[in-house]
Amino acid sequence: MIFKKDSTVIPGAIILVSGTKIGAQTNVEGEYFLNNINPGTYDLVVSAIGYGKDTIPNINVSSYSDSLLVLGLPPGPCYDQQSSKFCPVNEKCKSVIPIVYGLPDKRLLKKVEKGKIRLGGCEVTGCEPHWYCDEHEIEF
Ligand SMILES: [Zn+2]
Repeated sequence: MIFKKDSTVIPGAIILVSGTKIGAQTNVEGEYFLNNINPGTYDLVVSAIGYGKDTIPNINVSSYSDSLLVLGLPPGPCYDQQSSKFCPVNEKCKSVIPIVYGLPDKRLLKKVEKGKIRLGGCEVTGCEPHWYCDEHEIEF
């Protein structure tokens, strides 16, 4: 089992076993199965939307039960682009609110009612906008 420290679990990432045609896609838990693979040591090439490509070297697959792997990737370049909370139309604009992803609780829903945050939904690829300008109606 692989779980990279300081990383984010990524659903929908493509896993390819280097040097073979064997591949898989991660599920919502970031897990994936590699079927029909001979025991051995492999490099895994991982790619996901918003995270670029990464190679995880020397993965030891010893038996079928070891072929369930949990994948995490470090945050990609998209995270860097979202650090600014200044409205791109006018950086002095005061109508910028954060966009929150995932299932909101009661406290969050109150904030949504008051217009203090905006809900972005549950599907997260890593490249979603983090801020919303209420005045100019843009996400960034
Ligand atoms: Zn604005």
